[in-house]
Amino acid sequence: MSDRRIQLRIVTPDKTVVDMPVEAVGAMGSEGAFTALPGHLPFLTDLQPGLLWYRTEGHNRDLAVSGGFIEILPDKAVVLADSADYLDEIDVERAERALKRAQERLAAAKAEADDAEAGLKTDISRATASINRATTRIKLATRRIGR
Ligand code: ATP
Repeated sequence: MSDRRIQLRIVTPDKTVVDMPVEAVGAMGSEGAFTALPGHLPFLTDLQPGLLWYRTEGHNRDLAVSGGFIEILPDKAVVLADSADYLDEIDVERAERALKRAQERLAAAKAEADDAEAGLKTDISRATASINRATTRIKLATRRIGR
């Protein structure tokens, strides 16, 4: 008899954040919010930076994800994301400091970018990705703690 769960894997560049069977998973894809239950038809979508949730043992867990995509299969879901953090583990002050540093790096790189060298483009895209991670963390974690 099949296990009516989905094996959820959430992977970021530095770690596997989740690898467990879940009852449901939901997030905001490029076509809007979706919920996948076991047996869902296969699909692949970009993830909007924001909330990703899953249900296990009847409880929901919420994560802030940025810059990724998700592949859904009937018994599996794989998320590859630039960042994925449980909302209750986000350190908002750390994210605010990271945001400020990345904004400063972006401004410095843009100021030198007239000749658009490849290195500067890399600096700009790294700083932009960092800003997206920090902004997503701050937005979701502060919404949760009601700041
Ligand atoms: P920082 O400069 O604060 O490290 P960052 O954007 O460079 O920010 P990342 O590279 O996205 O950090 O993340 C590195 C690791 O630290 C990841 O495992 C991530 O989950 C964790 N992390 C980063 N920022 C926070 C935060 N504000 N709260 C909790 N964990 C965080």
